[in-house]
Amino acid sequence: MDFSLSPAQLDLQQRTRRFIADEVIPLESDPRQGSHGPSEELRNELVARARRHGLLTPHASKAHGGLGLSHVDKAIVFEEAGYSPLGPVALNIHAPDEGNVHLMEEVATAAQKARWLQPLIDGHVRSCFCMTEPPPGAGSDPSMMQTMAVRDGEHYVITGRKWFITGATGAGFAIIMARMEDGSSTMFLADMDQPEIVIERQIDALDSCFTGGHGVVRFDGLRVPAEDVLGTIGEGFRYAQVRLAPARLTHCMRWLGQARRAHEVASDYARKRQAFGQPLIEHEGVGFMLADNEMDLHSARLAIWHCAWVLDQGQKGRHESSLTKVLCSEAEWRVVDRSVQILGASGVSDETIVARIFKDIRAFRIYDGPSEVHRWSMAKRISRL
Ligand SMILES: Cc1cc2nc3c(=O)[nH]c(=O)nc-3n(C[C@H](O)[C@H](O)[C@H](O)COP(=O)(O)OP(=O)(O)OC[C@H]3O[C@@H](n4cnc5c(N)ncnc54)[C@H](O)[C@@H]3O)c2cc1C
Repeated sequence: MDFSLSPAQLDLQQRTRRFIADEVIPLESDPRQGSHGPSEELRNELVARARRHGLLTPHASKAHGGLGLSHVDKAIVFEEAGYSPLGPVALNIHAPDEGNVHLMEEVATAAQKARWLQPLIDGHVRSCFCMTEPPPGAGSDPSMMQTMAVRDGEHYVITGRKWFITGATGAGFAIIMARMEDGSSTMFLADMDQPEIVIERQIDALDSCFTGGHGVVRFDGLRVPAEDVLGTIGEGFRYAQVRLAPARLTHCMRWLGQARRAHEVASDYARKRQAFGQPLIEHEGVGFMLADNEMDLHSARLAIWHCAWVLDQGQKGRHESSLTKVLCSEAEWRVVDRSVQILGASGVSDETIVARIFKDIRAFRIYDGPSEVHRWSMAKRISRL
């Protein structure tokens, strides 16, 4: 692997860094944010700023107006965007839209791309991805899916209930995963403004970084025309993997930016704040925490770059993305947690951005596969060797 940045990569990195510093960080205290994320109005403003700077939806293919970034390019840009909790919203690279763009570029028909993908890439609509269900339905184990799709002439009729659907409130369309009568699963595309799609409520979660929060969504006999099937009937679980491997990795990239921010805020505090006659950083207990932060950030970045490189070679990278997801979600969490500790009381308050990052990052060890499930699948792989 070549770790040096090409002139184009360096230029994109610096442009993104400047954009986040000049156009996004000043909006971090904007009142148009609540427990369910930035308002649509704030999101639109952020997206307009990224558009003006030529940084909107950079991961989309050039054919669709993006920058056609490779996975390694994404590692560079997404870390920079992640430096602010609002950065991924501005660049239109947050979950679930970022993963949905990737999946639809791979499997959607030309008509589906024109109708749903292009407005998503252009930042005019948001989307959601509906897989997880309340118990006893699909969670860590997607094969427990209860939402059913039953063929009725030229339509499929979808009935069931999903929850923790990020961005559902305000989304223009959904990718819905449903079980078929033969036990396989299929993905469907559907506009959200249909009476058979009911958002029962928004869930109050720890995080507040996703526009639209997380919804409980019910499908009351939603009729989806056969041409709105995403990809091939019965391939839903396989497509979920197509979407998840890169999507997991981009979470690692964005959260790396936020962990780096927390570390920098804590380092600054430790250099300036005095206790017991010297700056905090001179106390070994604090200095060592910062040193541990640097090691965690470094190993997370290396793992991301390696996995990105594997994906750029055209490999599926399922094992690498699993391993990298656990490594990063846990290392980045440790960095933020230590940063809170170093900041003392201000670390658990709104005095710095770090408490917000702390609340936002916790769920990363659960979504896109809890750490235990990834460890379990790695152990199964080892047992087969
Ligand atoms: C903030 C957030 C956003 C989300 N956004 C979306 C979204 O947009 N769309 C969507 O479809 N879903 C979304 N999810 C859901 C997410 O994908 C699920 O939470 C995840 O798959 C785990 O499922 P579960 O919560 O039902 O946990 P469960 O399946 O009930 O598991 C609970 C715990 O059991 C343990 N466990 C499970 N299996 C094993 C095992 N084999 N070995 C050891 N331990 C195990 C793990 O510790 C796990 O955390 C989101 C979740 C969160 C928290």
